[in-house]
Amino acid sequence: MSLMSVKEKISAVIDSVHAAEKLSGREVGSVKIIAVTKYRDADFAKNFPENGIFDLAENRVDKLQEKQKVLKDFPEIRWHLIGSLQRRKVRTIINQIDTFHALDSLQLAEEISKRALHKIKCFLEVNVSGEESKHGFTSSEVFEAVKVISTLSNVEIIGLMTMAPLDADDIDLHKIFSETKELQEQIKAMNLANIPCTELSMGMSRDYKIAIQEGATMVRIGSSFLEN
Ligand SMILES: *Cc1c(COP(=O)(O)O)cnc(C)c1O
Repeated sequence: MSLMSVKEKISAVIDSVHAAEKLSGREVGSVKIIAVTKYRDADFAKNFPENGIFDLAENRVDKLQEKQKVLKDFPEIRWHLIGSLQRRKVRTIINQIDTFHALDSLQLAEEISKRALHKIKCFLEVNVSGEESKHGFTSSEVFEAVKVISTLSNVEIIGLMTMAPLDADDIDLHKIFSETKELQEQIKAMNLANIPCTELSMGMSRDYKIAIQEGATMVRIGSSFLEN
């Protein structure tokens, strides 16, 4: 394979997301690409706003803050925190981001609501495969959880987020993502206050094409952007 620059990688990923949208009969441009910058420094991250991607994500609070500082001249960037958040760090970050993707406990939801200066857009992290080692609510826990979260004035559940196990094959991936989509629709149909639940944050570099086929509205892509 020939060498590709970051700029070329970015347009290749955009093209490939558009192809997956077409293949799934979905409107081109309807899936939001979130660029995960955790593998590289802030100078690398500048490539994204310079090439039309304004949704940036980090999985650690300190790294996100570092990049926000260096990229302060790009006020149009929306910052996404996609990794697990410790309760003691909520206060320092929650009002500095656009969306939090990894809400995985009721205690964390309560802390966010307490520290937030406005309603914070959050994804509930779900774990439909029931893998022990993973974060997130299981399918059986999530319905009770949204009822409780619905009473918190500063948390808005915009959708569900999931991460497939590393060893999942294509059949497993279709199953995990379609089950997550089903849960999202069931929760949306509950019509609870603060729980619109219309979005699906699912799909990473290795599985975003399948996630788009199964209804992802946001894909979190990191390693596909690295130059080779
Ligand atoms: C790192 C990370 C991603 C991006 O993964 P790639 O495989 O590099 O695309 C997506 N979501 C979360 C939660 C991550 O931590």
